[in-house]
Amino acid sequence: MALSKLDNLYRQVILDHSSHPHHHGSLAKADQAVEMNNPTCGDVIHLELAVEDGIITGIAFDGSGCSISTASASMMTDAVLGKSVTEAEELITAFSELVQGNETPKEEELGEAAVLSGVAKFPARIKCATLAWKALGQAVESNGVAETGHLHQPEDSDHV
Ligand code: ZN
Repeated sequence: MALSKLDNLYRQVILDHSSHPHHHGSLAKADQAVEMNNPTCGDVIHLELAVEDGIITGIAFDGSGCSISTASASMMTDAVLGKSVTEAEELITAFSELVQGNETPKEEELGEAAVLSGVAKFPARIKCATLAWKALGQAVESNGVAETGHLHQPEDSDHV
């Protein structure tokens, strides 16, 4: 009884997010754009990020994917918008632990994304669930490089 209730909730929340994803589309001004795919399922995500003073001030995603990958991307944008890059990195780790069936002290902070803990029962779908979070990880990582990595852009050496 309790389990079937949980499964219904899980399914309903995923359906809501995948049919009406939050922050779907693109940003007027993005600092980072990352494209990532999950070949085992065919999911593709294009993620855009705006970061100001270490805070994620804008996030949007596009692409095509199964309901789990789309729902997870939608929940991810809800969870990290307005958070610091450091907090976002902690949530990426927490989510990864969660879908692998491990406990995480950050479960509450993941918001609705926590319902995807049920994916741990379906190993083939874990990559669908983590795709958006991996894309986010790459986006925040490149953002750090862009801020401190002027060595890669010698033309910019005049800027302080
Ligand atoms: Zn998928």
